[in-house]
Amino acid sequence: MGLDSSGPLEDGHGRLIGDLRVSVTDRCNFRCQYCMPAEGLPWLDRSELLSFEEIERLVRLFVALGIGDVRLTGGEPLARRELPKLVGMLSAIGGLEDLSLTTNGYMLERYAGALAAAGLRRINVSLDSLSRDRFFQITRRDALPQVIAGLAALERYPQFSPVKVNCVAMRGFTEAEVLPFAALARRKPYQVRFIEFMPLDADHAWDQDKVLTGAEIRTMIDAVYPLEPLGRQSHATARVYRFRDGAGEIGFVNPVSEPFCADCNRIRLTAEGKLRTCLFSLHETDLRDPLRAGADDAELESLIREAVWRKELKHHVSEPGFRQPARTMSQIGG
Ligand code: SAM
Repeated sequence: MGLDSSGPLEDGHGRLIGDLRVSVTDRCNFRCQYCMPAEGLPWLDRSELLSFEEIERLVRLFVALGIGDVRLTGGEPLARRELPKLVGMLSAIGGLEDLSLTTNGYMLERYAGALAAAGLRRINVSLDSLSRDRFFQITRRDALPQVIAGLAALERYPQFSPVKVNCVAMRGFTEAEVLPFAALARRKPYQVRFIEFMPLDADHAWDQDKVLTGAEIRTMIDAVYPLEPLGRQSHATARVYRFRDGAGEIGFVNPVSEPFCADCNRIRLTAEGKLRTCLFSLHETDLRDPLRAGADDAELESLIREAVWRKELKHHVSEPGFRQPARTMSQIGG
């Protein structure tokens, strides 16, 4: 079958697309070693960013095409002024089943209430170390207390439960964090997830040896707190385990050691309106210029359908000839 001009969004490999990540800014207040250089990156001008109205229009169109889940990200999404206002605009879109946010947590204490009131459904907090000096080492910011306070603030809003805490796993750093994070997942209503380090860093310092795999971390945890598998739901990024002796869950997102491209249903919209069909895409489709030039919904829809149709079969990380995209994770929207 070829590209269809009606029906749900489908790629050329038969995968239905249901999940859209929307970056609202390329800026971030952290400088995580595995993402951004210490001095930051050349930021987009404000005029280059999609406005809230432009984001709403595109999300409405995507939802009409079958997208059920939208996740706001960045950069640091809470660094975009008035983010709760955008959350309110998007949560009002009929047919949108799930609206979530990925944040570094620094500003959550201030915004948790407004985000809940605006209709946000779920929150992922990125946190790579539970010790203050090592947190500083990885993020180049002395901000662990603020992130912990942000997580605590979320506990006042049961609609966000269970909060997911995402930790990027790097060999030579994360080993010392594994058991403290496992203990956190047992103690708190958070699903802690370890995410393998991917070649999306500004410094191009990634190499295979720096990836601490999910399997290795699972072995470390299982030796102390035995785990049993809950499996991986289709389209999900994480393989989830629970502690055999009681409460708590741990997830493993293993894009490098166990790629999950076969049922990937995700696409991404960058802060300046480029549609990306894979984290590792080398091509992207501009939606902003046509939008600003007055394209109607049918024209935008056909651009989207064509781009999605060409979604990559799989990523080629770890294969000979792999080319790292020019964008960092912060410029894509992780
Ligand atoms: N600032 C927000 C945050 O920290 O969650 C949202 C954007 S951040 C780019 C999204 C996620 O990507 C974070 O969990 C971050 O740790 C992760 N990330 C960034 N660079 C990565 C890399 N090279 N490999 C794996 N994950 C990465």
